Amino acid sequence: MNEAGAIVIVGGGHAGAALCNALAAAGLGARTHLVCGEAELPYQRPPLSKAFLKSSAEDVQPHRNEAWFAEAGITLHRADPVLAIDRASRTVRLRSGASLPYEWLVLATGAAARTLPALPATLANVAVLRSAADARRLRSLLETAQRVTVLGGGFIGLEIAATAAVLGKSVSVLEAAPRLLQRSVSPELAEHVLVAHRAAGIDVRLGVTVGDFVVEDGRLAALSVNGRRELVELLVMGIGAAPDTALARAAGLDCDPRDGAVLVDGSMRSSDPAILAIGDCASFPEHGSGRRLRLESVQNANDQAKTAAATIQGAPEPYRALPWFWSEQGPMRLQMAGLMPAEGVRHRRPGPTPASFSLLHYVGERLVCVESVNAPLDHMAARKLLEGGKSPAPAVACDPSVPLKQHA
Ligand code: FAD
Repeated sequence: MNEAGAIVIVGGGHAGAALCNALAAAGLGARTHLVCGEAELPYQRPPLSKAFLKSSAEDVQPHRNEAWFAEAGITLHRADPVLAIDRASRTVRLRSGASLPYEWLVLATGAAARTLPALPATLANVAVLRSAADARRLRSLLETAQRVTVLGGGFIGLEIAATAAVLGKSVSVLEAAPRLLQRSVSPELAEHVLVAHRAAGIDVRLGVTVGDFVVEDGRLAALSVNGRRELVELLVMGIGAAPDTALARAAGLDCDPRDGAVLVDGSMRSSDPAILAIGDCASFPEHGSGRRLRLESVQNANDQAKTAAATIQGAPEPYRALPWFWSEQGPMRLQMAGLMPAEGVRHRRPGPTPASFSLLHYVGERLVCVESVNAPLDHMAARKLLEGGKSPAPAVACDPSVPLKQHA
């Protein structure tokens, strides 16, 4: 192998694993090194807040087994994170002391769970959920805890809350914003989710101020909610994730001053054209508008990996994939496609059961976003409409007697 032509991927998460797939399919496996900070083979993260937490019989699900990487010719470096990038010599240094030269370096370092300075996740009854190790720890804490407090009403917090409720725990969700899922879904969907969680017995409190953390003997004993003291048995922080870009920043790559995400162009190139960034750690220009986005989703990680592979193969294509996301919360399967417009008009399409529906968001005549609850067929059809740039008139699209796919 010509080491000068090596493709080094930093981070064995969804984006890194998807890039390995694309490079192997292009016959570039033998030039590829995948450097993983974790000891595991690259694995699926979404089940960690869903099936994995529910049962100790569930195991971590690897994307590919070890034999697949060997067959593709990809060199795996496990539990050996990259500590530094030397852009002048085009090498990276690993914790083991190894030094890898690269022709292409791809940062797929993901994001790290946010914590509060007063609440380190090292406290015995405080948890976050990002990695398989976090999930194992949380699962074992859930085995004994009866009362669970979840900080944050975003997707991960609500998935954990729903899972804990199904396990028979008494669950509270404390959210600072006036509604759930403030950053990602419409007020109408957020309201539906709120009502469903409350009906399932989860004590969801909105617009609350949490503080005065009392730590005793390495445990969080109590906190105050709107000034009232409450005892804590187990607290899970679901307050978002921050892009993991310490390496990029130390190497002097241009990063977003707001959150530190690596700034890339539509081909996933950073300010150093030999270094690409993909997935949760990257801020990219939206195709068409140029507005900067950073998305945390499996779709975004997978599709940006394909764009990076095209760039590496000398056939760059601007990234323009339709964003989509899903979440499972108790009996609710939520699916979103497209990005919620700041202003637009919502139309409701009833789903196949009373508890299912889709919200079709229009800006003028144009369908821009679809949110569905337990309506997977409608959702897939709507996604195809969005991908094809088709916008049936709302009255027609919301007629449940006509399958949505007929408008495609
Ligand atoms: P990651 O998958 O986080 O991978 C980054 C990897 O880089 C990590 O393994 C990290 O250890 C490694 N790394 C970091 N620094 C270094 C270094 N210096 N050297 C080597 N390795 C390094 N998305 C959905 O679309 N639907 C869902 O239902 C959903 N559920 C989720 C549930 C949970 C619990 C979590 C945590 C996320 C969920 N997501 C979901 C989000 C989705 O998993 C992420 O968007 C996706 O994993 C992003 O992929 P990534 O490769 O960018 O980052």
